[in-house]
Amino acid sequence: MDYTDLFSHLAAAGVTLCAVDGHLRAGPAERLTDELRAAIREHREALLSARCEVCGEPTGGYGFCDAHDPFADEPEP
Ligand SMILES: [Zn+2]
Repeated sequence: MDYTDLFSHLAAAGVTLCAVDGHLRAGPAERLTDELRAAIREHREALLSARCEVCGEPTGGYGFCDAHDPFADEPEP
């Protein structure tokens, strides 16, 4: 699985990634398949080195942290 494909697969599975103290956390665990686990392991270094473009926080592979995610759902008016 390519690095870019990984995110669409994670989103489709409802799995989120985050980096905590240099370790990747993926969950919820019951939604992780063996294929997803293998892909996360395969791209571990790239995922861990990803940083938010705005504040530089580790994001577990995404370009933005939760606070700066431009694609986050807008709150209901
Ligand atoms: Zn940020």
